Amino acid sequence: MNALGILNELLVNLALLIAGVTVITLTSQGQETRESAVRLLLRYSSAVLLALFLMTHSVGLAPGLLFDFRSVVIALAARRYGLVAGLLVALPLALYRLSLGGVGAWPAVTSLLLVALLAGVGTGLTRRIPRYQEDTVAHRAWTALVLFGIAHLPFFLAFFLAGRPVVQALPIYLTVTVLSVLGLVAAHLVKQSRLQSLAQTEQLKQLVFVDSLTGALNRRRFDKDFCQTEQPAFVLLLDLDHFKQVNDTYGHERGDSVLRALVQTLQQTVRPTDGVYRLGGEEFAVLLSPCEETAVMEVAQDLRRCVQDLVAVRAGLGKEQQITVSGGLVRLAGEKRDVLRSADELLYQAKSAGRNRIITNISLQPIAL
Ligand code: GH3
Ligand code: MG
Ligand code: MG
Repeated sequence: MNALGILNELLVNLALLIAGVTVITLTSQGQETRESAVRLLLRYSSAVLLALFLMTHSVGLAPGLLFDFRSVVIALAARRYGLVAGLLVALPLALYRLSLGGVGAWPAVTSLLLVALLAGVGTGLTRRIPRYQEDTVAHRAWTALVLFGIAHLPFFLAFFLAGRPVVQALPIYLTVTVLSVLGLVAAHLVKQSRLQSLAQTEQLKQLVFVDSLTGALNRRRFDKDFCQTEQPAFVLLLDLDHFKQVNDTYGHERGDSVLRALVQTLQQTVRPTDGVYRLGGEEFAVLLSPCEETAVMEVAQDLRRCVQDLVAVRAGLGKEQQITVSGGLVRLAGEKRDVLRSADELLYQAKSAGRNRIITNISLQPIAL
């Protein structure tokens, strides 16, 4: 094959690498710190399969000397998960390469192990140097150049073993090294763009569903969760007592602190499966789900007591000022409009009865069978 034909096949292999990496990154769910064993196993198998697929489309550079972008896959695994991961990916590829035989077999295996070693150890080392912690494309390209520059040196050995002039390996060595750098940088960019878009989606979700002042879930999220909550579930509608007075006495900013302290207190008191929502102004809802009917009033009273005990101090108002809430507690059943209306009626009764109390229409007695 002439030089142009080789370059053409190399580019096809590069395109396969980028396509494969793109597909694998689609399975990524973000910058996970701890991945499950199943996910790790899936990632490992897909990396090995991709590299083996690339090897089945390798380019014959000279008799017994094959090239493809399997090294890039190993470098990606070693950079992301460390030396052991790199070696584990390299192992089946090395065995497969040995089974194909040829003068290039052992130099190829050496090259694979060098990639795992350099990428695994090198990444660990450079992460400790502050100026390399910034993950720029230029930094990636330079480290990839050093990595493949060293890892591809066994090419010269292969030429030597084949009895060919070693100098003939130079243009091939340079071409595959540069292409490998391109492959690694391209794979990195694909991965980065996927992670960026996941992070942006997460940010947008925050903007769409979270109240920016208090960090509570917002009304839009309440509407969504209301329909998806498992039964039996309850809605506790809460409204701050005499909040206008708080604003008038301490100022609007301190009023905002009270709203934040209230949400913090509610969020810390409810179970992780419950949700705290700001429906508007100084009106909040708590979705208690799923919850036993006999226990739910106790839960609501606990929340009310926590607000009374903690919110004023947390908002910096001091112990002498009390912040309290009144609430209406209803079962989550039927139309949202009706549920909210009856919770609102009970809330109104709680206000009329003197505030700082919860009123419910749920039967508090366990049903006798
Ligand atoms: P009640 O016990 O009857 O509920 O009396 P209240 O004073 O709490 O009720 P009212 O409806 O008279 O006043 C609600 C106040 O809530 C008025 C409004 O300025 C204040 N408020 C609503 N949203 C915010 C906010 O985002 N920040 C602050 N600081 N105040 C808010
Ligand atoms: Mg109020
Ligand atoms: Mg109100």
